[in-house]
Amino acid sequence: MSTEKKQTLALLDGAPSLSVDPGDIFDWPIVTREDEEAILGVLRDHAMSQTGITKEFEKEYAAYNGTNYALGCCNGTAGLLAAMWACGVGAGDEVICPSMTYWASAAPALQLGAAVHFADIEPDTLCLDPDDIEHRIGPRTRCIVVVHYAGHPADMDRILEIAGRHGIKVLEDNSHAHGALYKGRMTGTLGDIAVMSMMTGKSFAIGEAGMIVTDDRELYERCVAFGHYERTGVASNYNPADKQVQQADLAHFAGLPIGGCKHRMNQTTSAMGRVQLKHYPARIAEIQSAMNRFWDLLEGVPGIHAHRPSQWPESTMGGWYNARGLYRSDELGGLSTARFCEALCAEGVGTSPGANKSLHLHPVFHDLDIFHQGQPTMVAFGQRDVRQGPGTLPVSESITDIAFGVPWFKHDRPAVIEAYATAFRKVAENADALLEP
Ligand SMILES: *Cc1c(COP(=O)(O)O)cnc(C)c1O
Repeated sequence: MSTEKKQTLALLDGAPSLSVDPGDIFDWPIVTREDEEAILGVLRDHAMSQTGITKEFEKEYAAYNGTNYALGCCNGTAGLLAAMWACGVGAGDEVICPSMTYWASAAPALQLGAAVHFADIEPDTLCLDPDDIEHRIGPRTRCIVVVHYAGHPADMDRILEIAGRHGIKVLEDNSHAHGALYKGRMTGTLGDIAVMSMMTGKSFAIGEAGMIVTDDRELYERCVAFGHYERTGVASNYNPADKQVQQADLAHFAGLPIGGCKHRMNQTTSAMGRVQLKHYPARIAEIQSAMNRFWDLLEGVPGIHAHRPSQWPESTMGGWYNARGLYRSDELGGLSTARFCEALCAEGVGTSPGANKSLHLHPVFHDLDIFHQGQPTMVAFGQRDVRQGPGTLPVSESITDIAFGVPWFKHDRPAVIEAYATAFRKVAENADALLEP
């Protein structure tokens, strides 16, 4: 079992554990001649700024997700802004969002004059804590943003039950979890509407791009009207049945974008997206077996635990974007995550503590006055102040203690993965040597 016991850690002048050549195991995305030819085709057709290829990509992406509609955008942030507006978010409204996420899950609300009421995450899923939502709901709460963090599905059954009881929309920010399953169903198809970034760092990676998916015709049409002024054929079918937005018939505004912005996807990106989508299921299946192999090798090692949804049947991490491990210092005599990661780095494994920083403490969500009103946008339009200071969201604030980065393997190559797992095991099993006497 403890084959690594009594080894001297590299941090304490022992020999580094890792000597294997990783080759291209971390390279992403996988780009082949097929991607290059698709992009060159767009250039040769002088069709970079039209919509034909984008519409093909949208159709194929909707089919992959099993949703009625998909709408390509210039990036994920633009898609989130449009989706929030489509959900009825406006000045003085509130959006509930986990604090520990990328800023674009939350910041578009400010641009709409709304406030963000941040909620905490669960220490094991690193996703929105269903027990921390309900007491934040007020008369102006319009939507709950759910992030399937680092590919881990959020507990959607419980979140949807709460939202349903209060008549609030659920917007999935699926930017980390393209192709992930929650109890056999695709993340991004469980709430009212979903948005996924497709920028190059993500698991579905095609440049600067975003996709909105929904089954709801009205939400789709509002997103089209918001930032896709040239697609008036869609918006002009709009039926202004929505009392919440109290928006006049969008067809009345056809020809100009309601949001004042142009959000269309670049067709070179769409062309690459079509190629990437063809290969995506097979490629993430390989990532899943590689990452599960890594964590299976570390099962039972003290202090470090897999961040994966083994509590639910038929649930996966999609493409394991931004792969994290859970760290529990009490199992290692209180050794800090920082010191643990330092020891791993010395063994040859690049890693660092934490994940995204808590957003609820950032000055943008306390002091920023976007509209030059002489008061912060977070309080300028609303009836209550939902800003929160240090200590209010303890799990999010402790993220550098409870999570850390792990290698994101793109290929299932046992020898390389075993070499990495051996380095992790060595540090965890010799952690006592790092404790202060
Ligand atoms: C990357 C990301 C986004 C933003 O997407 P862009 O395409 O970079 O605008 C939104 N939400 C989350 C959770 C992300 O990680």
